[in-house]
Amino acid sequence: MEVKRNILLNPGPSTTTDTVKMAQIVPDICPREKEFGGIMKPMRDDLVKIVHGDPEEYTAVLFCGSGTICIDITLNSLLDEGKTAVVIQNGSYSQRACEVIRAYGMPLVEIVQPIDKAVDLEYVESKLKEIPNIGYVYMTHHETGTGLLNPIREVGALAHKYGAFFITDTTSSYAMIPIDVKRDNIDFCMASAQKGIMGMTGLSYVIGRRDIIAKSKDFPTRSYYCNLFLQYDYFEKTGEMHFTPPVQTIYAAKQALVEYFEEGEENKWARHLRVMKAIHDGEDRLGLQEALSRDVQSGLVSAIKYPDDPNWDFDKVHDYCYERGFTIYPGKIESKGTFRLCALGAIDSGDIEDFWVVFEEAMKANNIAVPAVYN
Ligand SMILES: *Cc1c(COP(=O)(O)O)cnc(C)c1O
Repeated sequence: MEVKRNILLNPGPSTTTDTVKMAQIVPDICPREKEFGGIMKPMRDDLVKIVHGDPEEYTAVLFCGSGTICIDITLNSLLDEGKTAVVIQNGSYSQRACEVIRAYGMPLVEIVQPIDKAVDLEYVESKLKEIPNIGYVYMTHHETGTGLLNPIREVGALAHKYGAFFITDTTSSYAMIPIDVKRDNIDFCMASAQKGIMGMTGLSYVIGRRDIIAKSKDFPTRSYYCNLFLQYDYFEKTGEMHFTPPVQTIYAAKQALVEYFEEGEENKWARHLRVMKAIHDGEDRLGLQEALSRDVQSGLVSAIKYPDDPNWDFDKVHDYCYERGFTIYPGKIESKGTFRLCALGAIDSGDIEDFWVVFEEAMKANNIAVPAVYN
């Protein structure tokens, strides 16, 4: 079967290989069969291996849902009674974390930082010093809305210094930027199959410390469906998900993991960086300006400012590119018009070179000046 290859430059779901797409086509199976459990056990081990966790110390707990389910689960499950949640707030995903904490009515202190600059570690520490009974410190590793990369290793060390767990949302960096849970001071991280491993949507995972999960059994149970200990415990006892798993997505993830380890951590990260270099080269050629300076970028997302051109129309440019197999994505910076180009997925620099040819045509077809004009 031939499937049209689209180049997705949105921040996930990402372009997948045909072998991953086809891995979903399997004979019907009841996920309560041993055969299916036999797929999930090694998958959990592989997910820990990607972030170099010791399997005795760290585990992966699978959930059926989009990436936000892991934000919800870690935040609501890992806060003990009488403790305060602390969020380093510098982008739309850490803002989402704050919304989750508020929705559960849990005590929250936000440490607000600019969305387009490196986190000020001295300021963070001065704030942490003042907050009594911190349960956990939470930070997004890669703020996908802007492309800002956050210093998890340093903030993780600060969290530990002040007696707290460190939880980081690595949804848009996991299996792309090399991560080592020990070295990076991570107690919990998370991701989703449609991003770094280049699988399908519907499967998400929390990777974290077994001892803390065991301890969280005695923390308040704030959700029935989204509880980390309940799902972990069920997996440990039965090898299965508590409720129906996303069966076909798990078959795709199994194949995606085979391809991840075949490509290798270093090679894969080098490929993403090569893709981002091709993105940057095209921006420079067409005079497009970015919202963030390159030294604070993740290497995975570029947020481009709308040109100050009366003919600029994101939707028209989007539609022109979309019709030709390239998907570009709106930005997430409230005060400024931006759009994003992302280096996720099974793509390489050649795809980006092809994209820029189409993008330049889209500008010309809409009478947008090339190079782009900014006031
Ligand atoms: C994609 C993403 C998520 C999850 O978003 P969903 O739409 O729920 O899949 C969470 N955090 C970050 C940083 C992301 O990039």
